[in-house]
Amino acid sequence: MSDAYGRVFNFSAGPAVIPVPVLEQARDEMLNWNGAGLSVMEMSHRGKSFLSIYESALASVKELLGVPDNYKVLFLQGGASTQFSMVAQNFLHTSCDHVVTGAWGKKAVEAAKIEGKVNVVWDGKATNYNQTPDLASLTFDPKADYVHVTSNETIQGVDYGFDPVLGVPVVCDMSSNIASRPVDISKYALVFAGAQKNLGPSGVTLVILRDDMLEKIKPGLPPMADYKVHAENDSMYNTPPCWGIYILGLVCQHWIGFGGLAAVEKSNQAKAKVIYDAIDGSGGFYKGHAVPASRSLMNIPFTLPSEELTEKFLAETKKLGYLELKGHRSVGGCRASMYNAFPIEGAQALAGFMAEFARTNG
Ligand code: PMP
Repeated sequence: MSDAYGRVFNFSAGPAVIPVPVLEQARDEMLNWNGAGLSVMEMSHRGKSFLSIYESALASVKELLGVPDNYKVLFLQGGASTQFSMVAQNFLHTSCDHVVTGAWGKKAVEAAKIEGKVNVVWDGKATNYNQTPDLASLTFDPKADYVHVTSNETIQGVDYGFDPVLGVPVVCDMSSNIASRPVDISKYALVFAGAQKNLGPSGVTLVILRDDMLEKIKPGLPPMADYKVHAENDSMYNTPPCWGIYILGLVCQHWIGFGGLAAVEKSNQAKAKVIYDAIDGSGGFYKGHAVPASRSLMNIPFTLPSEELTEKFLAETKKLGYLELKGHRSVGGCRASMYNAFPIEGAQALAGFMAEFARTNG
């Protein structure tokens, strides 16, 4: 147990850890938000109270991520998975390029194919998605409507570590590493992320898109699938995910107070190093899935020598209150996800256990 509340070390890939001060504030404001006499879940999204919450969340996310003025920030629903379809429905006129670095990139291709022509420029399947490609060596279609990339693959734990510049509009699925390090939004045409890893609860999806993209939207889309409709209505064409927007705003304010994304990145690097060092220092007992150059700071999949030892490792860590360490079946073994709000004490505790487990079972 990690704190006065008896909270576990939550290694979940998402929904995931939320900063405790944010949970405390939400608790304190639950029954009567800011003297309004009701909770955020109960108020009209058209009322003065919620509009101030929305404005504050919008300003906070823009400040934290450094969103330039020529971008719209939308709070949508349907998760990042809906964005896989929506991006193609809005912008896939002739063809799009996709770089597939893992399971989520693959799903994005499947969804886009329903809408039009998709060129898979690179696919990491041959090495079971253990690396990102050298983007400079790839050939992108200069006439492509856009290229889709996944900045961090949550299941395979591979991350580019930088903002790609590709000469065509870049659409980026940042679901699992948004706000984990400084980002240059101006390098992207559109960014999307489900909130449930680094931004707050599930149910709200952040979309950031450059204004000129709004002019490229296909006509005749269903209103709920049309970015322009959402942009023109400040994400309130229909009832928005009010609670999610409220928490997302508090989470962004929390990280601004922490020192912004440079400070967040430093903290994430320190946490990830603890676990990668435990893997690399185990004499081969633990094996990381990702090649070192593509290692994610957020999701660290690793395997043990056998299925039996993996089961034992998972059972023992569970007893200690280290939750959700089971890896995805496509990679096997374990996965430690450590998003922004995950405490370094959790990484140190797991690394200590890993060393002891390898010593007694190796
Ligand atoms: N992309 C990535 C990188 C993800 O990690 C996830 C969810 N784990 C998704 C997309 C799908 O998100 P959602 O469940 O919000 O649709």
